[in-house]
Amino acid sequence: WKRNNCPADVKTLGRHTWTLLHTMAAYYPEKPEKKQQESMKTFFESFSEHYPCWFCKNDFKQDMAENPIDVTNRETLSEWLCRRHNKVNEKLGKKQFDCTKVFERWLTGPANGKCDE
Ligand code: FAD
Repeated sequence: WKRNNCPADVKTLGRHTWTLLHTMAAYYPEKPEKKQQESMKTFFESFSEHYPCWFCKNDFKQDMAENPIDVTNRETLSEWLCRRHNKVNEKLGKKQFDCTKVFERWLTGPANGKCDE
């Protein structure tokens, strides 16, 4: 029996989910309105309730409780999310991502066009 990502496994789901989350953070307004701040907070609260990987979800929820989301603006949200992702990277023994490069990775794209170097 060969796995062909149907249905998505934890890795595929994770990779695609991080793409959505980091891209959402990168396109979050630089000066959000109160309503936008509230709905982003609500989104992440719901996300951590419904993410379809129970052990990922439980740890993420706990991490969010210890490190509350910062929806002040694009920069604070992107930084917060980068740190949350790094927490998961640490748990999985993956290397830490340099959070100063978060906009290069998820918004502008690096000069050499290679996102994972
Ligand atoms: P990914 O970690 O999916 O990263 C994708 C790309 O994001 C990378 O190639 C890199 O360019 C970029 N990136 C990496 N780190 C950062 C960062 N800190 N900030 C910004 N960009 C970054 N898997 C488990 O086995 N156990 C878990 O408990 C678990 N919890 C998860 C919780 C959440 C909320 C999510 C969304 C996923 C979780 N996963 C978990 C999946 C895991 O994080 C990876 O997505 C999966 O292992 C695939 O890894 P990857 O090497 O393709 O890169």
